[in-house]
Order: sequence, then structure tokens, then C-alpha cells
Amino acid sequence: MPKEHVTLACTTCRHRNYHTTKNPKNARGKLEFTKYCKWCRKHTPHKEA
Ligand SMILES: [Zn+2]
Repeated sequence: MPKEHVTLACTTCRHRNYHTTKNPKNARGKLEFTKYCKWCRKHTPHKEA
């Protein structure tokens, strides 16, 4: 099963902080996670870049 590699970017500062994979069959649209951003030094929403 091929997985799609995606980059998660902080929506506040736009730094690309995380890499992950998603299953295209399960994920619809853009991914969004709340993760810690070391640049903002707090948890921020991260979106698929
Ligand atoms: Zn940030």
C-alpha cells in the first residue's frame, strides 16, 4: 500500500516542523494536527504543506 509523504507546517510561523505519512484512502483533504512548534514555543495548528 503506497503511502503519501506529507510535510506539516506551523500555521503561525510557517516553519515546516514535522514529516509524516498518510494513507490516501483514509485521509480526505488536508491534514491538520495540533503540535508543538519550537519556533513559536507553544502548541499550534500544523497543516499539510
Ligand atoms: Zn510556529
